Amino acid sequence: MNRDDILRWLRETDEAKLEGLWSLADETRRRAVGDEVHLRGLIEVSNHCVRSCAYCGIAACAPKVQRYRMGADEILACAERAKEYGFGTVVMQAGEDPGIGGEWMADIIRRIKDRTGLAITLSLGERSEADLRAWRQAGADRYLLRFETTDPVLYRRIHPSLPGTVSDRIEQLLRMRDLGFEIGTGVMVGIPGQTWETLANDVWTFRDYDMDMIGIGPYIPCAGTPLDGPLGQELTTRAGAGQTPSDPLTALKVVALTRLVCPETNIPSTTALATLDPSSGRANGLLRGANVVMPNLTPPEYRVLYQIYPGKAGLHETADITRARIEAQILGLGRTVGRGPGTSPRVGQRTMNQESGSLSSEKGLS
Ligand code: SAM
Repeated sequence: MNRDDILRWLRETDEAKLEGLWSLADETRRRAVGDEVHLRGLIEVSNHCVRSCAYCGIAACAPKVQRYRMGADEILACAERAKEYGFGTVVMQAGEDPGIGGEWMADIIRRIKDRTGLAITLSLGERSEADLRAWRQAGADRYLLRFETTDPVLYRRIHPSLPGTVSDRIEQLLRMRDLGFEIGTGVMVGIPGQTWETLANDVWTFRDYDMDMIGIGPYIPCAGTPLDGPLGQELTTRAGAGQTPSDPLTALKVVALTRLVCPETNIPSTTALATLDPSSGRANGLLRGANVVMPNLTPPEYRVLYQIYPGKAGLHETADITRARIEAQILGLGRTVGRGPGTSPRVGQRTMNQESGSLSSEKGLS
C-alpha cells in the first residue's frame, strides 16, 4: 500500500469495495495483535489549559468553562479502581495545565506504580524536557500527543503556538521516544481545511514514524470555538472540493488504513467515534482495525466539566456502568478483554533491533 492507494481508499464510496477494506483491516488486526481488546482507564485529571486550540471546548479561550483540577488522592482512587476492574493501564489526560507541576505529577506516578503496578500513560500536552524526564524516571511508560494534522499551515491556524515558542509535536514525540516513552499520536478527521491529500499524508506519517499507539476520531464541532465560527468557514473555503467530511465513515476508513500500514500498533476505538454514532461507533471501530478501548474512570462531577466537544459518549455515567457496558460490547463481538499492559509488539521488536544494532556495532558488524 502506498500513499496513492491510501488516497484512493479514502475517497472510495462503493460499499461493496469498502467491505473488502473492512475485512482486510479486521484480518490484519487479528493476525498482528490478536483478539484481545486492551482497556485503558481514562482519568481526566484537569480541564485547565493554557492553549487556544481552535477546536477544543476546554481551550483557554473557551467561554464559561468551570475549571477543576483533581486532587492527588482522587486520582489515586481512580487508579485503584482501574486495578480492581482488571485494566492494565491508566491514562492521565488533561488540558495543558501548568498547575500540574513536574514534581507533583512525578509523585502521583510513583504512588500509582507502587500501589497498582499498572502501566501509566500520560496525555498532558506539550511539556518541558525536565518534566518529561522526571515523569519517565518516576515510572510513566507512555505519552500520547496527537499531531492533529500534517498540514503545517492548517496546524498553525488550529493550534496556535504559545508566545516565544514553536509547536512541533512530531519533534516532541521523537524526543519522548528518546527518553524511553512508548509514543502515541493521532489526528482528527474532517477538521475544516483538511483535504483528502492531507489525510492520506497523515496516515503515511503514522507509518513513517512507527508510532506505538494511534488515536483517530472524527472532529466534532464545539459551539463557541473559533473553528465552529468564521475560522472554520474560512478554512473550509480554502479546502474547497477537497474538504474531508467529519463523519464516522471517513474516520473508520482512516482506522482501517492505519491498521494496514501499521499492523502491530495499538489503535483505540475512540470516544469521538462513539459520540457521533452512539449505537455502533465503538463496535465498528473494533471491527475495522481497532484493538483498544479507553473506559472513562473520571468521577461524574468532573466528567461533565471535561467537554472537549458536546455530547461526549458516557458523559453522565459512573465508572461502573461505563466499564460494564464496554466489556459486554467486547464479549458480544466475540473478542476477549485483554489482561496485562497490552504493549504493542512493535515496542519489543524495536528494543531487540536496537540491542542487536548496538551489539553488532560493538563487534564491528554494522
Ligand atoms: N492537552 C492534551 C493535548 O493537547 O494533547 C490532551 C487533551 S486534548 C483535549 C486531547 C485530544 O482531544 C486532542 O489531541 C484532540 O485531537 C481531541 N479533541 C479536542 N477537541 C476536539 C473536537 N472538537 N473534536 C474531536 N476531537 C477533539
